[in-house]
Amino acid sequence: STDSSNGAAAAPSAEDLKLLELSQKYAAEAAKRLRPDGLSQFVRLKEAGSERFRALAEDPWADHAALNAKEPVQDGAKYKFLILGAGYGGLLFAVRLIEAGLASGPNDILLVDAAGGFGGTWWWNRYPGLHCDVESYTYMPLLEETGYMPESKYVTGAVLLEHAERIATQWKLHDKALFRASVRATRWDDAAQLWNVEVTEGRGPGEQSRELKLQARYVLLASGILTNPHIPKIPGLESFAGSMFHTARWDYKVTGGNPRDATLTGLEGKRVGFLGTGATAIQAVPRLAKYAKELYVFQRTPSPVSWRGQRPTDPEEWKTKIANKKGWQRERMLNFDSYMTDAAQEGQENMVADAWTEMPAFSAVIGSPRYPIVEPTPEKIAEHVQRLYKLDIPHSEAVRARVDSIVKDPETAAKLKAWYPSWCKRPTFSDEYLQAFNLPNVHLVDTDGKGVESATANGLVVAGKEYPLDILILGTGYVTPSVGGGSPAVRTGIEVYGREGKSLDDKWQNHGAATLHGVCSNGFPNLFFTPLTQSGQAANNLFTLDVGIEHIVHIIAKAEAKVGADAVVEVSSQAEEEWSLEIMKRAGWFATVMGCTPGYITSEGEALRQPQDQVGMMKKARGSNWTSGMASFLKVLQDYRAEGSLSGIEVAPVK
Ligand code: FAD
Ligand code: NDP
Repeated sequence: STDSSNGAAAAPSAEDLKLLELSQKYAAEAAKRLRPDGLSQFVRLKEAGSERFRALAEDPWADHAALNAKEPVQDGAKYKFLILGAGYGGLLFAVRLIEAGLASGPNDILLVDAAGGFGGTWWWNRYPGLHCDVESYTYMPLLEETGYMPESKYVTGAVLLEHAERIATQWKLHDKALFRASVRATRWDDAAQLWNVEVTEGRGPGEQSRELKLQARYVLLASGILTNPHIPKIPGLESFAGSMFHTARWDYKVTGGNPRDATLTGLEGKRVGFLGTGATAIQAVPRLAKYAKELYVFQRTPSPVSWRGQRPTDPEEWKTKIANKKGWQRERMLNFDSYMTDAAQEGQENMVADAWTEMPAFSAVIGSPRYPIVEPTPEKIAEHVQRLYKLDIPHSEAVRARVDSIVKDPETAAKLKAWYPSWCKRPTFSDEYLQAFNLPNVHLVDTDGKGVESATANGLVVAGKEYPLDILILGTGYVTPSVGGGSPAVRTGIEVYGREGKSLDDKWQNHGAATLHGVCSNGFPNLFFTPLTQSGQAANNLFTLDVGIEHIVHIIAKAEAKVGADAVVEVSSQAEEEWSLEIMKRAGWFATVMGCTPGYITSEGEALRQPQDQVGMMKKARGSNWTSGMASFLKVLQDYRAEGSLSGIEVAPVK
C-alpha cells in the first residue's frame, strides 16, 4: 500500500490483493511438489539399471542396413570441423561454415550424432500430434536459403524432420555425417593443436560397435538441450506387464499408425495410461483419446494451456507479406522476441500474433530491454519479482478461465488449472487437449502434486487405488539442460579435456561458468558450444541457435583471416572474467524463478535451494544469462564484431 495525502495508509488495491492471494496459492502448490531428491527422483533411460528401460532408449528409426552399407569413417581420420550433433543446431553450423568459405574441402566437416539421421529433436521425437510450438516461419532454419514455404503456421514433427533432410541435401551433408555414434570424450593435443575425439559407433542389433579416435582442428558442440529422456523411479514400474515406452521413442508397433498418420488402431479396445502432463502430453493426448477404449492421464502438475490457432499457410500471404524480402526471417524472429521480452512498441505490427505474444511476463526468464539491471538488494529484487507477478496475472487468470470455459465437469476443470507463474514451465498451446477431458473415455487421474505412488504388473497406483492398464506411455520428459551447472560437457554427456589435460566440467564445478558470450571458454582452444548460460536466450530456440552460431562462425572466420590459415583460437581468462562479471551483475533478475513449481527449468527444484556459502552464491550467479533480451544480446555481439579486433580472443596460426 502507499501513503495517501492525509498521512493514512491507502487501502491495498484490488491488484495487490489478487497478487497476495495468488502468491499464497502458488507457494502452497509449489511446496507440495518440492522434493529433497530433486533431480535424482529420475533415471536416464539409457543409464537405467534395468535392461527393459535401457532398451527403451534405443533408436527406433535408424535404418541399420543402409547405414552399414555406407563408406565407413576411418579410425584416425582427421577433419577440420567436428560438429557434435546433427539437429538444427549442427546443421546450421555446417551451413554457416560452408557459406563463410571455411569448409570447402572434402574432409572439412564431420557431423557426429547418436541418432540414425539428421534432425536431432525431430529425429528422436515422432509421437502423434507433435508439432513446433513456436510459429514454423520463425522456427524452421534457413527458410530463406531453401525457399521452402511451411504448409501451416505450426508444422508437424514429420515436416520438421523432412526439413532437416532438405538442408542436408541442399548443402550436400549426407557424406559428411557419422550417425549412431556417441561421442564419449574429446582431448586437446597441444603439440598437434588438434582435438582427439573418442567415439563409439553403433552398427545395429547383433553387430559389434566400433571404437573410433577421430581428430579435429575445431570441435563445435551442438548437442541440444532436451536430448536425454528420463523416467521417474516409480517403485515396481519395471514389473508392468503391458507394453511400455517413452514418448521420445514412440512405438508405432504397439499403437498402430505412423509419424505421418495418427490412425492409432492398435489402441482400440485398450486401456491406455499416459504418465505426465507436460508439453508432450498436451500434443499427444488428443490423438490417443480418439482411439483408446479408456485413456487415463496421470497428472502431477497441470500445464497452462493457451489457444493454438493452427491454420494452413496462405501462399499469397506468404509471398507478399511474410517471405517478401531479404532478411525477413531474422526480422520476424526479432518481432516475435519483442513480445516475449515485453519490448513491443506501441503501434508496431505483431507479425506472429499468437498466444505466445500475449505473455510479456515470459520476460521473467529471458529478460527485457525495458528495465535496468536489478540491484542486488532484497527490496529491489522483491520489487522486480512483484512487477513480473503482476504483469502475469491477467494472462495466467485468462488461461485458468479458459479451462472453465472448455471443460464441462467442474471438478476436472479445477484440477486442470495451473497454479504457478506462466514462466515456470514451457507454456503450451492446444485447441484439443482440454476438450479431450469432455470425452467419456478420457479420465484425469490427478495426484495432487504427489506423483504416481507405485506400479504393479497390472497398472499404476495412485492414492492406494490401482488403475489397470494394457499400455503405459511415459511422457516424463528429459534431463534438465542445466545439469552440472550448465557445463557444456555435462549436458553433452562427454568429457572435455583442454590444455594440460584440464577438465571443462571441473572448471564449471570448481569455478562456475566462465565464457565469452556463452560460446567458448579459456583453456579450451578451438572448442565452441551453442549458448545456454552466460548468453541471451529466446522463447524460440532457433533464434538462440541462429544468433550463437552466426557469432561463432564469425569469430573463426575472422581468426583465420588474421593468420591466413587454420588458427588456434582461445578466449583469454581476463576476457571471460569480464564477461562473467557482466552476467553476474544481472543475476538478480532471475529471482523470478524462486517461487516456481519444480520442473526442468529449475533443475527439478534444486535451483531453488539457496547456496549456503559465498562461493556457492558466486557460482550460481555466474551461471546466469543476459537479462536485456535477445535483441540486446545480438547488438552486443554485433558491436563486438564491428569493432573488428576480436578483443579478448587470442589467435595464433597453427604451428
Ligand atoms: P537437438 O535437436 O536436441 O540435437 C542435438 C543432437 O545431438 C541430438 O540428435 C543428439 O542425439 C546429439 N547428441 C547429444 N549428445 C551427443 C553425444 N555425446 N554424442 C553423439 N550425439 C550427441 N524448441 C522451440 O523453440 N520450439 C519448439 O517447438 C520446440 N519443440 C520441441 C519439442 C520437443 C519434443 C522437444 C524435446 C524439444 C523441443 N524444442 C523446441 C527444443 C528443441 O530441442 C530445440 O528447438 C532444437 O531442436 C534444438 O536443436 P539442437 O540442434 O540444438 O539440438
Ligand atoms: P516435461 O518434463 O515437461 O513433463 C514431464 C511430465 O511428467 C510432467 O508433467 C511431470 O510432472 C510428469 N512426471 C514426472 N514424474 C512424475 C511422477 N512420478 N508421477 C507423475 N507424473 C510425473 O516433459 P515433456 O516431454 O512434456 O516436455 C519437455 C520439454 O520439451 C517441454 O517443456 C518443451 O520445452 C519441449 N517440448 C516442446 C513441444 C512443442 O510444443 N513443440 C512438445 C513437447 C516438448 P511435474 O510437472 O509435476 O514434474
